[in-house]
Amino acid sequence: MGWHATGTLRTAAVDVARVRRDTPASERLIHFNNAGASLMPNAVADAVLAHLDMERCIGGYEAEAAAQPALNDFYDAFAALLNCDRREIAYVESATRAWDMAFYALPLKAGDRILTHESEYASNYLAMLQLAQRLGVGIDVVPSDGDGQIDLDALQKAISGESRVIALTHVPTHNGLVNPAAAVGRIAREHGLIYLLDACQSVGQLPLDVRGIGCHVLSGTGRKFLRGPRGTGFLYVEHSLLQMLDPPFIDLHAARALPAAGFELRGDARRFESWESYVAGRVGLRAAVRYVLELGVESVSNRAVALAATLRDRLGAEPGVTVHDRGATRSGIVTLTLADEEPTVTAARLRAAGANVSVTVPDAAPLDPHLRQLGAALRASVHYYNTDDEIDRFVGLLVGG
Ligand SMILES: *Cc1c(COP(=O)(O)O)cnc(C)c1O
Repeated sequence: MGWHATGTLRTAAVDVARVRRDTPASERLIHFNNAGASLMPNAVADAVLAHLDMERCIGGYEAEAAAQPALNDFYDAFAALLNCDRREIAYVESATRAWDMAFYALPLKAGDRILTHESEYASNYLAMLQLAQRLGVGIDVVPSDGDGQIDLDALQKAISGESRVIALTHVPTHNGLVNPAAAVGRIAREHGLIYLLDACQSVGQLPLDVRGIGCHVLSGTGRKFLRGPRGTGFLYVEHSLLQMLDPPFIDLHAARALPAAGFELRGDARRFESWESYVAGRVGLRAAVRYVLELGVESVSNRAVALAATLRDRLGAEPGVTVHDRGATRSGIVTLTLADEEPTVTAARLRAAGANVSVTVPDAAPLDPHLRQLGAALRASVHYYNTDDEIDRFVGLLVGG
């Protein structure tokens, strides 16, 4: 196994042959849609299927009881991944619902202001618009710096006595840039603002340390770079913030009715969970987190980011191809357009040839003026199990068709 230095850390290289063996479809497909839904490694798919089979054979409640060790480890696995306490983690069925559970629980009132950035994910912005209409909160959209990332000086200037919350998307859905999450965390702490970080596209492809970043809330999904099952997600809420958050709805798992008509919320982040859930999905998502922890987040991140840089270089050398990624720091997401073909047409043509990508549309990030101007773009998102050979073949299919 090869080793190479990254800063002062020495990081093991990913065993590419092994992770491709663990991902059988990688032999048949060029799957550059890891930002949409990655391919599950066998360990994940097998965990889901084994649990479903157990439900078939012994019953759903009985299967859940038998899966307790894995279900319990879900919280420890995420605590290890994010550098937090297991009591700060909740299972939620999607990143959007996870983010919503925290957002709609914030103690906001008329006149309070929320700061966000041009790259914010549409669903988060829609929730802000709803609270603007419902409560009369204000929204301040911080512009980008020359690299397309949140402008930290502009953020500082936009903070007023009414500011309460900063909501940032770490890695946007529609662009290869990475926002400076930790620098924003320092600003949030300095001004006593609650900081929500949407890590949906960064978890599983970039190292995340919630203490180092300084966010109070972090949300993510299972199916993207974490390579978990669909219909799964998670929420991190810093313990000190938890007591200030009133969940938008509760059930008998999140709270307990008291004899004198009162009720008591759970003391941990699981107050944001529902009693009923996709148990096989929880088991599968736990397996996905254990899988990436075993490979090493630094290792997978180095490889994914390097492959994306190679892909951008290769595409940049092709006449008729434009790469649209911004950002001084970049992720595994590559956005591009062809001069003479609509993105949806290209995506369908590639899929028929065995290469998966997705199409980014302005509705995904309605505050981004660049995306609005662009209209739509192809999103080719690579991960650590992809290869240089796949990049060669992909570029050939893209421009050769
Ligand atoms: C995909 C995505 C989401 C939504 O995730 P779901 O699990 O589909 O709710 C949120 N934020 C970003 C940046 C995304 O790319």
